Amino acid sequence: SLSDRLTGALKDLRGKGRLSDADIDRTAREIRLALLEADVSLPVVRAFIARIKERAKGAEVSQALNPAQQVVKIVNEELVGILGGETRRVQFAKNPPTVIMLAGLQGAGKTTLAGKLGHWLKQQGHTPLLVACDLQRPGAVSQLQIVGERAGVPVFAPDPGTSIGQTGDLGTVSHGDPVAVARAGVAEARDHHYDVVVIDTAGRLGIDEELMGQASDIREATQPDEVLFVVDAMIGQDAVATAEAFQSGVGFTGVVLTKLDGDARGGAALSVREVTGQPIMFASSGEKLEDFDVFHPDRMASRILGMGDVLSLIEQAEQHWDAQQAEAAAQKISQGELTLEDFLEQMQMLRRMGPIGNILGMLPGANQMKDALSQVDDKQLDRVQAIIRGMTPAERDNPKIINASRRLRIANGSGVTVSEVNQLVDRFFEARKMMAQMSGRMGLGGGSRKTN
Ligand code: GDP
Ligand code: MG
Repeated sequence: SLSDRLTGALKDLRGKGRLSDADIDRTAREIRLALLEADVSLPVVRAFIARIKERAKGAEVSQALNPAQQVVKIVNEELVGILGGETRRVQFAKNPPTVIMLAGLQGAGKTTLAGKLGHWLKQQGHTPLLVACDLQRPGAVSQLQIVGERAGVPVFAPDPGTSIGQTGDLGTVSHGDPVAVARAGVAEARDHHYDVVVIDTAGRLGIDEELMGQASDIREATQPDEVLFVVDAMIGQDAVATAEAFQSGVGFTGVVLTKLDGDARGGAALSVREVTGQPIMFASSGEKLEDFDVFHPDRMASRILGMGDVLSLIEQAEQHWDAQQAEAAAQKISQGELTLEDFLEQMQMLRRMGPIGNILGMLPGANQMKDALSQVDDKQLDRVQAIIRGMTPAERDNPKIINASRRLRIANGSGVTVSEVNQLVDRFFEARKMMAQMSGRMGLGGGSRKTN
């Protein structure tokens, strides 16, 4: 998967102070292969890789992130961008009813979607009406009626018994003509104050002219506010050709991805959006009414990347990392002047980012503190913080003055034993010495890591 490949590629980047062009090229190659495996179409992959390379080589400086994390961040941002960035909302008509027409191949999930949309619209306070315009497939009308019943949304449909059908009090239409049914359905909504009409249409197993002609006639007759192209995410590469055919044959204003509960790798999503320029608006992930949501580009990106946890860690690191404070601490470290107050501050900064086990080592500036912190878990950190808080500012600033009587006072004040205080102070001196030596040897000169 893309996630596995990225993880592999990024492992090689770990510990590097900056990315060489060769590093970036190698990582880009891995991402390219992974995207192709995920069924993203070649032109889309090319454009995507070009953008990633350009940005990675542009090497934005980040003190919160190491190079590997920066690459993940760039890839993620580009993915979100390619998926449409912001979530696109339904455009409701100024004068109801709003007309939403569904189009797509047979089996794409249009009829199922009609029910889900109806259910969702109702929850948002709308009064939707579903209109059955698939008169092709036997049973299609009753399928929509069952779906509508489940969703608690009325269905406008021709009476199958006669050529001119009467559907309860829902009006009269000529049987067999989907365009007439669509037109009558919209009129019905206007007369009876339904504020949204969802038109279910017929599909074919493959793209053909008759299908396109019929859908295009329905569009012409009802002037929908939204035409949603419904596409099965499992069809992979075929999604692109299908989308292009529907775009030129019928035209659409938005895309709905269905069957995301399958093992679809998300490549179709990336391609359809990029190739047609139309936003993905909804996602369907199961057969039940509730398996449906507004499409969120960021969630889809982390699904494709398979790195949800990594991404949220990166976000947290950026939010909570105080670059100036880290820089100042690194400066003091290199000169052997780190105080317990600095130590406390650094520790607090780290702990704002979550459990210590998750974050150790992910911060370039914290690398120098890693050895000092690596032995401890969250509970121990609590005690360490308590001990430091029990010290006076003068003691924190110059731990050398902490003699035996001060140690006793600190221990009593912070509810620990004297030997714990001793341990902390001793470890602190040791760590400070070691860190100063290390940063001297590594020529860090007090700067936290720069990446360009
Ligand atoms: P239509 O021909 O475009 O109207 O497609 P249908 O709505 O009849 O759906 C075709 C099949 O796909 C049905 O068996 C649906 O239950 C199923 N289906 C639709 N959407 C989803 C989905 O998001 N996930 C899964 N697993 N099945 C779906
Ligand atoms: Mg159908």
